[in-house]
Amino acid sequence: MSFDANRPDLTVGVIGTGAMGRGIVQVAVAGGINVVMSDSRPGAAQEARDFVAKMLARAAEKGSMTQEDAAVAVARIKLAASLEDMKPCHLVIEAIVENLDAKRRLFAELETIVSPECILVSNTSSLSVTSIAAQIKTPQRFAGFHFFNPVPLMKLVEVINGLLTEEWVVDALMVIGKRMTREPVRCTDAPGFLVNQVGRGFTLEASHLSYEGVASFVDVDRVMRDVGGFRMGPFELMELTGLDVTHPASELIYNQFFQEPRFRPNLIMKSRYEAGVLGRKTKKGFYEYDAEMKPIVAPEAAPPAAYPGHVWISTAEPAGHKVLTELLGKIGAKLETGPRPSANALILVTPIGEDATTCAVEQQLDPKRTVAVDTMFPMVKRRTMMGTPLTDHVYRNAAHGLLASDGVPVTVCRDSPGFIAQRIVAMIVNIGCSIAQSRAAQPADVDKAVTLGLNYPNGPFRFAEVLGVERVYRVLTNMYRIYGDPRYRPSIWLTRRAKLGVSLLTPEP
Ligand code: NAD
Repeated sequence: MSFDANRPDLTVGVIGTGAMGRGIVQVAVAGGINVVMSDSRPGAAQEARDFVAKMLARAAEKGSMTQEDAAVAVARIKLAASLEDMKPCHLVIEAIVENLDAKRRLFAELETIVSPECILVSNTSSLSVTSIAAQIKTPQRFAGFHFFNPVPLMKLVEVINGLLTEEWVVDALMVIGKRMTREPVRCTDAPGFLVNQVGRGFTLEASHLSYEGVASFVDVDRVMRDVGGFRMGPFELMELTGLDVTHPASELIYNQFFQEPRFRPNLIMKSRYEAGVLGRKTKKGFYEYDAEMKPIVAPEAAPPAAYPGHVWISTAEPAGHKVLTELLGKIGAKLETGPRPSANALILVTPIGEDATTCAVEQQLDPKRTVAVDTMFPMVKRRTMMGTPLTDHVYRNAAHGLLASDGVPVTVCRDSPGFIAQRIVAMIVNIGCSIAQSRAAQPADVDKAVTLGLNYPNGPFRFAEVLGVERVYRVLTNMYRIYGDPRYRPSIWLTRRAKLGVSLLTPEP
C-alpha cells in the first residue's frame, strides 16, 4: 500500500473532542494538517474548535507562532455534520469514551464511510489495539496512536501496532506524528503500551514498600526526589493523577498480563480508591491539604548529635565501602580498619538489594550495632539508612547523627531489601527489560518514551547504565531471594546481559 503521509492536503478526522481530541486537533492544525472533527454530544465539536482557536491565539500572543499562522491553523478545522463527513479523511483518530464496545461500534460504522486506504487509529490508553481492531473488516490498517495529556505540552506519541497492523500504517503514523511536532515512538500492542507499563514500577513498588511499613509516604517521596532524582515522588504523583485513575489502570494492566506479579496492585491504593480518598481532587489522599492546597507535611526532625565513637565499615561491598569510607573520612569519623569491628564500634554495611538483617546474619555482625547505608545513589542531597529489627536506638541515632553531620538530610527507614530507591528503580529497569525481551520496543525507544511521557530523570536502560547493570541485577536477585516473591525475579533480558557483563544497550549481531 502506498500512503503519502507527507502530502500537503493531508486530512485527518478526529472523533471525540474532549480533553484529548481537542489537543490532538490543536497540534494537527498547527502542523499544517487539515482536520475534520466530530463529537456525539451536540455543540461539543464547536466548543472544542473555539477552545483550540483560543489556545492558538494565546500561542501567537506569546510569540510562539504568528497571528497569521494561528488564523490559518484555525481555518484548517472543519466541523462534521455527521460521520459521513469523515469520507475525505486520510487518517481518522478516535478519542471517544474509553469503552471497548463504543469504540468497536464507531470503527465498524466508520469503515463503511472512509476509503479503503484511510488509516484508522485509536487514542486508547488502556484497551488492547488488537482487541478494538478484532471486529472490523480491515484490521491491517488499524493501529494505536497514543497521545498524552495535555497534548500540546506532552511531545510523546506512542505508535502501536496491533497483531494484524501492516508496516506501512506504522510508517505513515511515524511521519504524521512528526508533522504534528510530536516525538513518535514505535511499540507493539501490550497492556499499558510503554509509558503506562513502565510507570507501574514507580507507583506500585512505592506502594508495596509503604504497605510493608518500610517508610511513610512523605519519606518515600523525599527519597525519590532527592536520591532518585525524580521531579515528583510516587505518592505525590498518584495524588495529582488521582487514585480513581491510577488504581483501576493498575488493576487492568495486572489482569491483562494474566496476573503477572510484577504488576501486582496493592491495598494501599485500593482502600483509598474505595473510600473515595483520591488525592488532590478530593483534598485528601496520601497527604492532607491546607486551604491553599499545599500538602500538610511536618518538618523533618533535627538529627541526633554527631557520633563520637568508632565506626567500622564492612568491605563486603567494595564499591559501597569505598564511597562510605570517603564520605565519613571527610566528615571526620573515627574509622576502624581492622578485619572485624571492635567491641563497641558502630557497624555500617552498604547492601545492594539486601536488608540490614541479611547483611548482619551472613557477615556474622552484631545485629544490635548494625546499620545499613544506601551508597548506590548519589549521597549529596539526602542519605538513606536502616537498621535491623534489633538495632539499638543508640547505634541507630549514632549512624543518623554521623551521616547528617555535614548538613545533608537523612531518611531513616525500616529494614528493607533495597532500601527505597534501589528497589523502586530496579523495578523500573526490570519492566523496561521485560518489554525489550518481548521485542515490543527497542531499548532506546523505551527510554525516550519514559523520559518524555513520565519526566523521569532517566529511562530504565539509562538508569541501569548509570547505576551499573550488575548492581541493578543484584538488587533484584537479592530481593527475590529474601522475599521469595516472583514479583522480583529479574527479567531474562537483564539476567543474560548482567552475566555477560555488557550494557543493556548492546545490539545483538
Ligand atoms: P473526554 O471525556 O474528555 O472526551 C471524550 C469525548 O468523546 C466527549 O466529548 C464525548 O462527548 C465524546 N464521545 C463519547 N462517545 C462518543 C461517540 N460514540 N462518538 C463520538 N463522540 C463520543 O475523554 P478524554 O480524556 O479526551 O479521553 C478520550 C480517549 O483518550 C479515551 O480513549 C482515553 O482513554 C484516551 N486518553 C486519555 C488521556 C487522558 O489523560 N485524559 C490520555 C491518553 C489517552
